[in-house]
Amino acid sequence: MAESFSFFQKVNKDFDRAARFTDYPRGLLEQIKICNSSCHFTFPIKRDDGTIQTIHGWRAEHSHHKLPTKGGIRYSTLVNEDEIMALAALMTYKCALVDVPFGGAKGGIQLDRREYSESELERITRRYTYELIQKNYIGPGVDVPAPDFGTGETEMAWILDTYITMAPDKLNAIACVTGKPIEQNGIHGRKGATGRGVVFGLQEACSFAEDMKPLGLSPGLHGKSIIIQGFGNVGYHAAKFLVEADARVIGVIERNGGIYDPRGFDVEKVAVYLAETGSLRGYPGAELIENPSDGLELACDILIPAALENQLTAENAPGIKAAIVAEAANGPTTLTADEILQKRGTMIIPDTFLNAGGVAVSYFEWLRNLSHVQLGRLGKRFEDQTRHAMRHAIEKATGYKFSEDELGLIHGADEEDLVNSGLQDTMITAYQEIRETRMKYSSENGPVDYRTAAFINAIHRIAQSYIQMGIFP
Ligand code: GLU
Repeated sequence: MAESFSFFQKVNKDFDRAARFTDYPRGLLEQIKICNSSCHFTFPIKRDDGTIQTIHGWRAEHSHHKLPTKGGIRYSTLVNEDEIMALAALMTYKCALVDVPFGGAKGGIQLDRREYSESELERITRRYTYELIQKNYIGPGVDVPAPDFGTGETEMAWILDTYITMAPDKLNAIACVTGKPIEQNGIHGRKGATGRGVVFGLQEACSFAEDMKPLGLSPGLHGKSIIIQGFGNVGYHAAKFLVEADARVIGVIERNGGIYDPRGFDVEKVAVYLAETGSLRGYPGAELIENPSDGLELACDILIPAALENQLTAENAPGIKAAIVAEAANGPTTLTADEILQKRGTMIIPDTFLNAGGVAVSYFEWLRNLSHVQLGRLGKRFEDQTRHAMRHAIEKATGYKFSEDELGLIHGADEEDLVNSGLQDTMITAYQEIRETRMKYSSENGPVDYRTAAFINAIHRIAQSYIQMGIFP
């Protein structure tokens, strides 16, 4: 049974639920909620076999309260105007929540990338970029795309190259898109940032014994059993960092079947198998999950939807056994599924917070591009020398000899260290703010869920910036 309203309407319902806890004027709330602008591009593309095909693409800029606007570009058959506006809105709330100074945007092209050759995808991406340039939907201070479902570093490099040829301001043109390859002015740590952010977020959420107790869980990620739906960039990196944090990934679900092993998977081996065979079917030693939807209902501590929207539905929600649903994807839980899970006491860690690591590190990449200096470059050697001088002094004064492991920690921070530390701080701070809001409003009004608390925080931050602009009293 499909929901009777669209994805964007669903996001707006979440917004309305939170807005009731604030007392901003109706007009201001309307202004925050509405999508400021959106554009539908159609253009012809010559396929490798000589036929001509019409391509449909969109870009929506949900909120201009801060510029540039920011958000990924996805390639998927589900792309349409409503989806792109919903995702752009989620970007606005996400950026506000983690205090990244952008408005929200999102773009998409309606296609299944597996049906196109590399050179066709390049032609499509470059032509889409021309459309963005012509309609003023891209630029370092205007609107800055990034990777999303079905796109990655290669597409971002094509976008950059196309933009730079036409750019009026060549100096800052490299900041027109983020998620670029390192050699093309990308930043270390961006590729794994969303997955890493998911794990930092989960680590923080699971660290409170009093929040874990009602879920029947012990604090920390150690030993937790995890099922991940979607093994793309976000799912793979989340799995990798979860295993590093001592959790067990016992299930991985892809569109054409999943695998289950209660002993936990070797994430690298699964990734290689999937890349080589295009499917998880036949993965040695694992139980096959024939129907991907059944995989969501297997017993585990944490279920991580990391694919597309509307995956946890009225049909499968009653069967979901996970104590925590960690939304690594955007909008994976329908409104009805949300209600069913909340009623059962499932902790839902919302997308607006949990997958914000990508845009947080995009912000660092954008800053690095505008400053034209690699993060940490000026201080690294100096820090190195200071720490080694200190180490020698301590060894001399105390006779203590640092071990190899300890020596490994004594080095100046390089770019990836700084990025990861900035990301961790971003996720921890945002989580604590959501948790505080949830406690505050729950004590005044009865139980408030994490999604609503996250929306309340986002609304406050955006409202304040409108008020400071003097637009609203
Ligand atoms: N596509 C990612 C998201 O949905 C990243 C956006 C960005 O880095 O601008 O959050």
